[in-house]
Amino acid sequence: KFDFSKLGQELAGGSGIEELMADLGEALNSGGDDIRMLGGGQPAHIPEVNAIWRRRMEEILAEPGALERMLANYDPPKGNPRFIEALTTLFQREFGWPVTDANFSVTAGGQTAFFFLFNLLAGEMPDGSRKRILLPLVPEYIGYANQGTCGNLFRAVPPKIEKTGEHEFKYRVDFDALEITDDIAAICVSRPTNPTGNVLTDGEIERLSKLAKAHGIPLIIDNAYGAPFPNIIFGDATPVWDEHIILTLSLSKIGLPGTRTGIVVAHPRIAAAMASMSSVVGLANPNIGQTIARPLIESGEILRLANETVKPFYIEKSRQAREWVAESFGEGFDYYVHRSEGALFLWLWFPGLPISSAELYERLKARGVLIVSGHYFFFGLEDEDWRHRRECLRMTFTMEERIVQDGIRTIGEEVARAWAEA
Ligand code: PLP
Repeated sequence: KFDFSKLGQELAGGSGIEELMADLGEALNSGGDDIRMLGGGQPAHIPEVNAIWRRRMEEILAEPGALERMLANYDPPKGNPRFIEALTTLFQREFGWPVTDANFSVTAGGQTAFFFLFNLLAGEMPDGSRKRILLPLVPEYIGYANQGTCGNLFRAVPPKIEKTGEHEFKYRVDFDALEITDDIAAICVSRPTNPTGNVLTDGEIERLSKLAKAHGIPLIIDNAYGAPFPNIIFGDATPVWDEHIILTLSLSKIGLPGTRTGIVVAHPRIAAAMASMSSVVGLANPNIGQTIARPLIESGEILRLANETVKPFYIEKSRQAREWVAESFGEGFDYYVHRSEGALFLWLWFPGLPISSAELYERLKARGVLIVSGHYFFFGLEDEDWRHRRECLRMTFTMEERIVQDGIRTIGEEVARAWAEA
């Protein structure tokens, strides 16, 4: 009935992230437990973590005026000054980075930070040229894919695939294939990577950082799962920041996704641009996550929470999920699991899969198991013929054991059926 603009069609015309979030929200709100939700990036409800949110809410209620300041005030668009001060001190103390309050901006979730960053740096430039964001390794986070306000914003490079075990592999940046042409506005990686659980090595990050610096462009590191919080990293990885690095963080994966709190650490000009964009798009940011988390950041309790509760919880979840995969896969088909180095997902690769991963998603959905088809994560890549992009899926291992175990068993059955019918 009404005509939508090009931008309207881009944002409202359907996307992988919309399908995923709709599946997720419906499953979590359905009340029934007939759906095995291995789709979205919903963090687990960890009892010790939820107890801290409850305690903080009680403290806020008990402190005169605190509830009113949280609910009845607008914050400045850059974020709450006390929250930012707490972050600055934490990053100086923990990592020794030369940051000041001017390097920080809060956004309504990390997702919003990416919408702002990508459209700030890339797209149609004042001189009429078009710039893009380089993804040095795909598969990469599905949530970036549809964020361009003037068409496809991405150029992606396929990875090197290294088999690291009988049923295990790891993607590596193919530096020989990486070309930083004049139309590249920034390089972007998530570390740990959603969807694969990959953690780019310190060496890979150093090379990407040097490349970005040499070309005078930013390196965006999406630290939604990284240090210092939630620190869902299972091995060693050094956090890095520099004036040409834009680091994004979020309170979601430590357990506050409902508060929509993202954090950008960047050159003051970029941080200020985030605040300007927040004011145009949303006036101010949600206050609740900042109010809950600030004392934990000031006291360092957030680090203990990340390192002593959240990280070990997901290490065990990952181990268990891989054990169930090993138990229920392998009869009648070949499979590989990406090395699980962080984040909330297993990335499964079925070489030669006779149906597409999108068809596998449909068959699993019909059986009440929700996953995300791998094809969504290869955006920005021109090589449509590369089979690999239709042979993978992402499953989340955060839900309760029964759901994850049963979901994995069903995935195994459906892949075996696809092969048996081929
Ligand atoms: N970046 C990555 C890699 C993610 O996985 C997510 C959420 O799943 C986000 C950013 C955005 O998270 P939020 O908007 O909840 O901070």
